Amino acid sequence: MKRAPLYLKVAVPSPLYRDFDYLPPADTDAALFQPGVRLKLPFGRREVVGVLLETAVRSEVPAAKLKAARKLLDVAPVLPQEMLALARWAADYYRHPIGEVMQALMPVSLRQGKAAVLPAVPRWQLTQAGLAGDPAELKRAPKQRALHALLQRHPEGLAGPRLTEELPQAAAAVKALLKRGWLEDAVRHAQALEADIPLPVMEGAPLNAAQQAAANAVTAALGGYQAFLLDGVTGSGKTEVYLAAIAAAVAGGRQALALLPEINLTPQTLARFRARFGEVAAYHSGLNDGERLATWLAARDGRARVIVGTRSAAWLPLRSPGLIVVDEEHDASFKQQEGFRYSARDLAVVRAQRASIPVILGTATPSLESLHNAAQGRYTRLELPERAGSARHPSLRLLDIRSRPLVEGLSDLLLDAVKRHLGAGGQVLLFLNRRGYAPTLMCHDCGTPEACKRCDARMTLHGDRRLVCHHCGAERPIPRQCSHCGSESFGAFGQGTERVEQALTELFPDAGVARVDRDSTRRKGSMEQILDEVQRGERRLLVGTQMLAKGHDFPNVTLVGVLDADQGLFSADFRASERMAQLITQVAGRAGRAERPGEVLIQTHQPQHPLLQHLVREGYGSFAAAALDERRLAALPPYAAFALLRAEAPAQAAPTAFLEAARELFAGRRAPGVQLLGPAPAPMERRAGRYRAHLLLQASQRAPLQKLLAAALPELDQLKSARRVRWSVDVDPISLD
Ligand code: ADP
Ligand code: ZN
Ligand code: ZN
Repeated sequence: MKRAPLYLKVAVPSPLYRDFDYLPPADTDAALFQPGVRLKLPFGRREVVGVLLETAVRSEVPAAKLKAARKLLDVAPVLPQEMLALARWAADYYRHPIGEVMQALMPVSLRQGKAAVLPAVPRWQLTQAGLAGDPAELKRAPKQRALHALLQRHPEGLAGPRLTEELPQAAAAVKALLKRGWLEDAVRHAQALEADIPLPVMEGAPLNAAQQAAANAVTAALGGYQAFLLDGVTGSGKTEVYLAAIAAAVAGGRQALALLPEINLTPQTLARFRARFGEVAAYHSGLNDGERLATWLAARDGRARVIVGTRSAAWLPLRSPGLIVVDEEHDASFKQQEGFRYSARDLAVVRAQRASIPVILGTATPSLESLHNAAQGRYTRLELPERAGSARHPSLRLLDIRSRPLVEGLSDLLLDAVKRHLGAGGQVLLFLNRRGYAPTLMCHDCGTPEACKRCDARMTLHGDRRLVCHHCGAERPIPRQCSHCGSESFGAFGQGTERVEQALTELFPDAGVARVDRDSTRRKGSMEQILDEVQRGERRLLVGTQMLAKGHDFPNVTLVGVLDADQGLFSADFRASERMAQLITQVAGRAGRAERPGEVLIQTHQPQHPLLQHLVREGYGSFAAAALDERRLAALPPYAAFALLRAEAPAQAAPTAFLEAARELFAGRRAPGVQLLGPAPAPMERRAGRYRAHLLLQASQRAPLQKLLAAALPELDQLKSARRVRWSVDVDPISLD
């Protein structure tokens, strides 16, 4: 055994911006200390699990203060070297402590120090044969038939305990279907798979010309880095392009990873992938810890060839990566909004670059960032301009609601249209834009919103007396009249979904009004139930939030109404108009997918607003071009780099005091081209009993901003005012919330 001095540099789950030095546990072979092994460590009064980053022959920590690690948990690294390097990159880019970044790279059971071996709990799923199997063959075995039907509804499989819950005493039926070859344990199966045996791939439907061209472009790029922006209208067949490109990657013996927003990773999507590639591993929040570990290990060891997952799957280790797909790349859910605030979409691009493989970012409504990257030549743009089936694009129209009577935010114009469509046997979907809700004050007669006098942003109603600018923090009292036309018909517009639902139920008692928002769908299965009732035509009038925009098709919806486009136009958040346009386009895409053409009506006080005009007349692409121009003129992302320093505390004054001190500290370092804006209260100033505020750092170049953060963040904790707040930094924030 070697006895040279050896120090372990370890990433420890802690909010501190550094790694920690330890001595090896007694009597352990020095050769075992490979970067990427886990260690059990004493840390303060706790015992934690850390990951070895590297060994060193020197330590700056005085010998008397050094502690020994308690135990080596792995004989070989659980994390491959390139994942350690990726963690370092991410810690650096997102200015997040390495120990916490490392947590994102491991499933819970590995974080807890459990062994890196497959779990014992089975996950039952139908095989290809089972999925295609005729239930009539099970006529004389009702239990088997019930099991078959249950798993048909859950092509993603059910964990042993879940299955027993849904179908008690199913053991004999499980055995019988196993024997028939219709059933398998996905966990055992994953273990039995071998990385080097080719994966059987089914033929897909023939692609149309645009799809084929897109798939060919990606296939030709396999083996090297290239980023593609697949810009295809809703229903244009993007998924078929992903499947074709994945098939090509897999045929070359590589792995493919597809990232989807949580809400889109439905059993139907998984079934579609599985129908194509018998073996598809999933990684999402519906799995238990053991199942997540199983997928993680199968991905790392190359057994899983096709992996479909949500945001956190962006961190899956891959033995031989071949292709990464990000579906709905514009979706805000790819950005983690708490703790380690990474963007899975951006990470996917970085990983593709580092692994020299192509990445596809697909969407009907590209983010302005991605459009900008495409315009700069960093991404290759691929277009699918037509819907794959027979459906036609719906027409969009603005409703000028200035000075019109409103019932819970519903104008007479919109209500007339609702009546007309319901009368003609159509279904209607009404949509409220509720994200990051902070009302703008606006004149009902001329539509003029109150703007900040110091910067270009809109003022937001705060409490019921103050107007606040969330960019620069300026404040003033609410005026009595419109500064433009003098009208006193002045106020905040926009209602909660519940009140709109109530009003609609009274106005249209026979329409079967349904509400779809976070509250009404919290109970498991309630969303499915509502959707079922919509499909059966029992519910013909739906009112909901952005949840309605995603993933679901409503073939009989003929009218989509958008109640409050103005909230998107004049929000405190500069990204709000982009999000609004995406949502309107996505909801519009949900309607009239079959033979019935759809109509989309958008209520606004600003019928002349150029962005709305672009959207309505020429579609999302034209809107995006105009919005990008605005961003460029205002020096906003993607033409500038942002970082947001947030602070919160139970005492109202504490966050601002801390941010003032932070501002001083930043200002003292004089970073060229970095502007400090604020402190300002957050749009929702009080949440869960805490007051929240932020300081915005805005820079024309990323490098000086990164340098400033790197130098200053470790010092923030030394500020006296830091002790009274919780603070965090958000690089590339997607909202000021
Ligand atoms: P997107 O992902 O762009 O919304 P999908 O891939 O889900 O579109 O395709 C929309 C619908 O069109 C699906 O029902 C799909 O099966 C069908 N489809 C896609 N491509 C083709 C094609 N080449 N021929 C026939 N149908 C297609
Ligand atoms: Zn006015
Ligand atoms: Zn301002």
